[in-house]
Amino acid sequence: MLDKHQGARLANLWDDGKAAGMTEPEKLLYRSNLLGSDKRITNYGGGNTSAKVMEKDPLTGEMVEVLWVKGSGGDVGTIKMDGFSTLYMDKLRALKGIYRGVEFEDEMVGYLPHCTFNLNPRAASIDTPLHAYVPKPHVDHMHPDAIIAIAASKNSRELTSKIFGDEIGWLPWKRPGYELGLWLEKFCQENPDARGVVLESHGLFTWGDTAKEAYETTIEIINRAIAWFETENTGPAFGGRSKPVLAAADRAAIAKKLMPVIRGLVSAGESKVGHFDDSQAVLDFVTSTSLEPLAALGTSCPDHFLRTKIRPLVVDFDPAQPDVGNTLAGLPEAIATYRADYAAYYERYKRADSPAMRDPNAVVYLVPGVGMITFAKDKATARISAEFYVNAINVMRGASGVSTYVGLPEQEAFDIEYWLLEEAKLQRMPKPKSLAGRIALVTGGAGGIGKATANRLMQEGACVVLADIDETALEAAQTELSTRYGKDFVRSVNMNVTSEAAVESGFGDALLAFGGLDILVSNAGLATSAAVEDTTLALWNKNMDILATGYFLVSREAFRIFRKQKAGGNVVFVASKNGLAASPGASAYCTAKAAEIHLARCLALEGASAQIRVNVVNPDAVLRGSKIWTGEWKEQRAAAYKMDVDELEAHYRERSMLKLSVFPEDIAEAIYFLASDMSAKSTGNIVNVDAGNAQSFTR
Ligand SMILES: [Zn+2]
Repeated sequence: MLDKHQGARLANLWDDGKAAGMTEPEKLLYRSNLLGSDKRITNYGGGNTSAKVMEKDPLTGEMVEVLWVKGSGGDVGTIKMDGFSTLYMDKLRALKGIYRGVEFEDEMVGYLPHCTFNLNPRAASIDTPLHAYVPKPHVDHMHPDAIIAIAASKNSRELTSKIFGDEIGWLPWKRPGYELGLWLEKFCQENPDARGVVLESHGLFTWGDTAKEAYETTIEIINRAIAWFETENTGPAFGGRSKPVLAAADRAAIAKKLMPVIRGLVSAGESKVGHFDDSQAVLDFVTSTSLEPLAALGTSCPDHFLRTKIRPLVVDFDPAQPDVGNTLAGLPEAIATYRADYAAYYERYKRADSPAMRDPNAVVYLVPGVGMITFAKDKATARISAEFYVNAINVMRGASGVSTYVGLPEQEAFDIEYWLLEEAKLQRMPKPKSLAGRIALVTGGAGGIGKATANRLMQEGACVVLADIDETALEAAQTELSTRYGKDFVRSVNMNVTSEAAVESGFGDALLAFGGLDILVSNAGLATSAAVEDTTLALWNKNMDILATGYFLVSREAFRIFRKQKAGGNVVFVASKNGLAASPGASAYCTAKAAEIHLARCLALEGASAQIRVNVVNPDAVLRGSKIWTGEWKEQRAAAYKMDVDELEAHYRERSMLKLSVFPEDIAEAIYFLASDMSAKSTGNIVNVDAGNAQSFTR
C-alpha cells in the first residue's frame, strides 16, 4: 500500500498574481500562511518564517534593516500581521558582543526586547537568533514529517547527503536558541551555495533571496524527501501488521467505553477533554508489530513531545479477542504505572532550578486495533496533541522504514520540557476560565433558553453538545456558537428525548466527541393548554413523555456516564413555576413539571454520595426566543387570560412581584451558577427565576 501521508507531493501554491503589489511583510505573511496550511509541512504552532526588510526608522527617518519574524506562541498557518515581531538587525548583530557563551545562552532571550523596532508589542520568540544570523533575506524553519523522518534516523547525516548532496547541509542536534543561531551563521559562511540545512532530530531550515524563492525551495526540498521515501520505503508500514483492525462502528463503541473511564482517572488535577482519532495513519501504527517498541522510544521533534509528553500509553487491549471489560479493569493500574514512570523520569533528570513536576498523566493513549485517544485541558489542545502524534507516527514510519528511528535522548527531552523559558511561557498563559475542561450536554439546545445556556457555559470555557429535534435550528445554533467560540467547543446531536435509543446514541456521540460529561442541562420541553375535561389522553401522554419521561431518560444516561467517570457530576433541570404553582387550564403540563421537580429531588438524594448534584431552575413566562411560546400555546394562554397575544408579555411583567420581564439569558445565568463550582455545596435546590411570584415560593 502506498503511504498516504508521505505519498502525495506538496503542491506549489504560490500565486504571482496574488503576490504582485504586496509589501515584503505582506509577502512574508502570504508565504507563512501557505506553508502552515499543510500539516505535512509543519505541525500546528511549529516552525517559523522571517524576512529582513528595509524600513524607515520612526526616530531618525533613516532606512534601517528590520527582521520580521514569527513572534512567540504563534502558528504560521493562521498568523496575521500582528503575529510577527520586528527587531533592528544592527542591534541583533550587536548582541554578539555581550554573548558569554553557550552555558549562558538563555540570558540572551532577555536582550531581545531591547532590539524591538517600532514599539511592536509582539514578544520575540526563542527562535529569533536562528533567523537573524542566517545571512539571507528570507528564512523558513519548518517541521516537515518527511524531513524529520530523515533527521530522526540513526544515520541522518548520511541520508541527508545521499538525498540532497551539497545543496542541503546537516547540523547535529542542538536545542534552539542563541548558540544554534551562531551555528547556522557559521554554516552559511562555510557553505555559501547551500540552500538549507537539516537539524538532527528536529527539522529543516531553508532560505532564499526573495519570499517566493524561499517558499519554493522549502516545497521543493520537502518534495524531494517525499519522493525519496516513495522509492526507498516500500516495505510494509512499521514492519507489518500483527493485530486486526476492528470495524469502524466497533472502534467507536470501544472508544466510547474507554474515554469516560480514562477521563475520570486523569482529571483529578484539572478537568480534561478528549479526542478520538482512528485515521488510517493511526490504525497502521496501532496494528503493527512495532507499536510497543516504537511507542516506548518517545517522539523526536521537541514540538512533538512538548504536546504529547515524552511517550504515549499503550492500552492493554487485544483486538483479536476484544474484551473491553478486562481492559477497563486494568486501566487504573496502567495509568498509575504511567504516572509513576513519569515521576521517575522527572526525578532522574531534574536540575537544581527545574520547575516543579507538571501533570504526570499521559496525553496520548494508543488502543491496538482501535485508534488513538488524547486528553488535554481543552478540546483544541487534545485535538492538536493528536495531530502532533500523527506527525510523530509519520516520522517513525519513515525513519523506521529506511533506517533505525531514534528518539531524543531523555535528558535533552527533559531539558526542553522543563526549560525555564518554556515555564515562563506557561506562567504567562491566562488563568483558565471557570468551566474550562468541562463538558455539558443541553437538551433543547437549539432554542431560546437552551441556546442561551449553551452560550453562557461556552463563555466560561465549557465544551457543549447541543441536543435537539429541530435539525435546522440545530445547525444554525451550532454555526452561531462555533463562530463565536471556535469549532472545537461545540457539537450537535439530533435527539428525541422520549426515545430511549435516541438518548443512548446521542450521549454516545457526546462521549466520542469530548470523552465524557460533567453537566447535563435538561431543558427540552413543550407546553400545552386545555381544560381538564378537554385534555385528551394523547395530550396528557405527550406532556408526560417529553417532560417527565424525557427528563428521566437523559438523567439516567448522564448518571451512567458520571458513575463510570467517578468524578462527580452536575444535573440542572429547567422546570417551571408551574411545577410548584397550579395554573388554570394546563393540568397536564403543570403535573409533568411537578414530576420533573420531584425527580430532581430523588436524583439529588441518589447522586449525593457520588458527588453528583441535581438542582432545578424554575423560569416563568420567558417569551422571547422560546419555541414553546410560538403559535398555539401563546394563543391558548392569551385566551385563558381573555386578552390579546401582544398583551401577554406586559401581562406577565405586571403580574410579577418585581414588575420585570424574564429573558432566556436570565435563566441561563441561574443554570450557569448551578452548573459551576460557585454552587458546589448545593444540591436538591430550586432557584426561581420568575421576577417574583408568591405562589411559587418554596417551602
Ligand atoms: Zn523547530
